[in-house]
Formats: sequence, C-alpha cells, structure tokens
Amino acid sequence: MTGAGRAGLQRGVIALTQQNGNKKALITGGAGFIGSHLAERLLKRGDEIFVIDNLWTGKLANIAKIQGNERLHLVVDTILNESIMNELIFKSDCIYHLAAAVGVRNVMDHPVETLEINVKGTETVLRLANRFKKKVFIASTSEIYGKHLEHDLSEDDNRVMGTVKKRRWAYACSKTLDEFLALAYFDEKKLPVVIGRLFNTVGPRQTGRYGMVLPGFVQSALLAKPITVYGDGNQTRSFMHVDDAVGAIIRLMDEPSAEGEIYNIGNNQEVSINDLAQKVKEMTGSNSEIEHIPYEKAYGPGFEDMERRCPNIDKLRAAIGFAPSYDLDGIIQSVIDYYKE
Ligand code: UDP
Repeated sequence: MTGAGRAGLQRGVIALTQQNGNKKALITGGAGFIGSHLAERLLKRGDEIFVIDNLWTGKLANIAKIQGNERLHLVVDTILNESIMNELIFKSDCIYHLAAAVGVRNVMDHPVETLEINVKGTETVLRLANRFKKKVFIASTSEIYGKHLEHDLSEDDNRVMGTVKKRRWAYACSKTLDEFLALAYFDEKKLPVVIGRLFNTVGPRQTGRYGMVLPGFVQSALLAKPITVYGDGNQTRSFMHVDDAVGAIIRLMDEPSAEGEIYNIGNNQEVSINDLAQKVKEMTGSNSEIEHIPYEKAYGPGFEDMERRCPNIDKLRAAIGFAPSYDLDGIIQSVIDYYKE
C-alpha cells in the first residue's frame, strides 16, 4: 500500500527454524487490530508466524508484546509486493488474509487505496496461495449485506447495495468481489478457502481514528469530551469482542467441513448507537454530553449508513459450537479498561 511511512522500516524475510508438528501461518495485516490478536493466539498454541503489514493502519505497538518471540517473523511491506508474498506463502502452511482498508473514515478518505488493496491485494493472495495450494482464510465483512432492515442477516441473504456514487459501497463491493474470487478458486481450482464475515469487532488496541464508534465513544467519555452520535442514533450494530472473533477464525480454519463456506462471525446482541453512547457514559461515570451531529458533518456529503446490522450466527454455531463469551457490557468494559491503562 502507498500508506504512511514505509521508508526506513525493516524489510526482508527472516529464515525459519522448523518446528515439530505446529503450523506455520502467514497473517496479512498481522500488525493490525484483529491481526495482532490473532498472531498472539497462534503463537500461544505453538505456531510459527509470519506477519506482513505495511503499517498503513497497523502499528508496531500492536505487536510490541510478541515482537521478541523467536517464532514471530515480521515483514514490513505491502501485500502487493508479489516477490515477498510468493516467498512468504511458499514458506507457510496456511494464510490468514486480514490486510485490507479499515474503517469508514479511511474508506471515505482513500477510495483508490481502498479498492486497490481490497481487490488487487486479495487477488494476489489467492493467486499465490493457489500456486502452492495453501489454505486461505478470507476476512470479509458484514458491510457486504448493505442496507438490510428486515431481519437478522444470514449468509445466503441477498445484498442490498446503494448507488455507485456513494463511496461506502465501493468498500462493500470490493469485499464482495473478494468472496466471489475465493469461491471461484475453491470451485474451479480446488483451493481450500474459508470466508468469515466479521461484524463490528471491537476490543483492546482498536483505535477510533478511522471512525470506529466504540473506542471513539470511550475516549471521549474518559476525556470528558462530547460523545458524538452520527445521525439520529437509532441505527443499530451488534458488537463482538476481538477474542471471540479470533477464536472463531482459528477454529474455522481447523475445521475441514468449513472449506468452501462463508460464515458470519459476530455477536447477535443488537444495540442502538444512542443506547451505546448512554451505556459508555454510565460505565465510565463520565460527565460528557451526548451530541447528535449529521452524517454530512462527520463524513462529508453523500454518506449513507446502514440502519440495522445484526448477524444470524446459527451456521457458525453448527460448524464450531461458537457462542460469544463476552456480552455487550463485558465488551465495553474491556475497551474502558484498555483506555484507562
Ligand atoms: N458512529 C457514531 N459516532 C462516531 C462513530 C460512529 O455515531 O463517533 C456511528 C456510525 O455512523 C455507525 C455506527 O456508529 O452508525 C458504527 O460505526 P462504525 O464506523 O464503528 O462501524 P460501521 O459503520 O462500519 O458498522
């Protein structure tokens, strides 16, 4: 990616020492919020990890705790660098592909980079994975469902997309294309793939800088700044703790029957953004005002939001016995604890 500050950062793949029995996994976007939690969890179970991250939205601080681990190998580069990716994929047993444009604000501010990394990046990962027949997890998103209102979202539901003139849908369509491409590789080339649609994943290390609502609310509340709700605040989301997300991703990759399938990965406890703001204010004991501001003021003209988003997680439950271990209060508390530290 062409993002911030690549010059001067270390490059190059560090030679691997062979471990007995454990997997070697490549995590694209492994210095990001979800990727760094995934890296920690895989290291804990004994895997050897390659991380590639261009530090566009990822941060070295996210992996500071594990950077000394001799089973972690960090490459600071873009996934569009084919020769590096070829080497990393060749050396890995499987790939967790998480590198992507992150956050509504980023998507609105960087439409070219968003499309490039989501489309070309995933195409590169799948093509090279197919060269060496390495299993791939594709991190997709609940955004691909678009503007559904009627019911909880199931994997086979239609998608409801807005006009091409509104930038947000470019992100949704690019991730949809990733899913089509992954399924095409599975069907036509017999490449083992698993697709997970992540719903509003939150937790420690997530920053509010790219628009994400919960870290933004918590930081505002702790600093006694206004908590800004966009629109009327009646829109809903269903938040999932990153530990639950990462657990589900790993178990899906270990589950042979998940190959060639798409799974919602989420927590089906739905909350309005107004109620979320109120809860954050109460749980932090903050004096912050809750302010409503129009979408145009937050994201510029032509922004379109999803009014409701809640996953049906029956398929995930059936596949791996998934049940979220954090409820909404637990999720909010973990973010408060993180920012208090
Ligand atoms: N939102 C908000 N205030 C903020 C940031 C976000 O009211 O400071 C709203 C946003 O408009 C959306 C919801 O919170 O309706 C979730 O936003 P986020 O960007 O976290 O996730 P996404 O829209 O991708 O689900």
